[in-house]
Amino acid sequence: MHELGITQEIVSIVTENARGAQVKRVVLEIGKLTAIMPDAVAFCFEAITSGTVAEGATLDIIETPGCGRCRGCGGELVMNEPFAICDCGGVSFEWLSGKELQVREMELV
Ligand SMILES: [Zn+2]
Repeated sequence: MHELGITQEIVSIVTENARGAQVKRVVLEIGKLTAIMPDAVAFCFEAITSGTVAEGATLDIIETPGCGRCRGCGGELVMNEPFAICDCGGVSFEWLSGKELQVREMELV
């Protein structure tokens, strides 16, 4: 379950930025193409933040849809998984969005 390590990283970023203040809310952006399960992150978040300044913080997860541009025809495709075949038969894409994993916002008490 790689969400555990990812969530640990997120929580350490959050607690560092909080500089000792209590964290009320964290908004996390997860791209659909990261293959990270938001539910698993939410579950780990609760466990990992226990005993830290982020304990009890609300975690809001925004899922960014995946989008790629076909290297063959230049067409844009909405993708919810990192594999797709363009109408032109192309299978090579330039990722425009969907690979995000970042703390977009955090609120302190
Ligand atoms: Zn194409």
